[in-house]
Amino acid sequence: MKVGLIRCEIVSEFCPAASCLKSMREKSGAFEGIDEEIELVGVMTCGGCPGKKVSSKVRALVNKGADTIVLSSCISKGYPVGVAFPCPNWENIVKAVKSVAKKCGEAKGIDVKVVEWTH
Ligand code: SF4
Repeated sequence: MKVGLIRCEIVSEFCPAASCLKSMREKSGAFEGIDEEIELVGVMTCGGCPGKKVSSKVRALVNKGADTIVLSSCISKGYPVGVAFPCPNWENIVKAVKSVAKKCGEAKGIDVKVVEWTH
């Protein structure tokens, strides 16, 4: 699995993504049960509210070899994770990410998956 990780721009100012990286390294959370090696291809942010730049981020990550786009839990579940401030633009972001991932994958002849959380 070649992962392109996308994080919340605001959270990226103070969170070093340690828990996201740990879940990949230890194959826990969203990565539990994955047998293949997990390689982190790159890390980007949504580009800032309201997330309109996220499509270009998906394109860049797939062009760099990602076959799986992972949206960090700070976007889908908030920060602190599961406690507060999930992204108010989540539905639009995930819709755009899935659409662009599908198109980019088709252009490269691969099935680009989208994972909606990390830990
Ligand atoms: S659009 Fe959502 S994920 Fe992006 S910076 Fe704003 S709150 Fe964070």
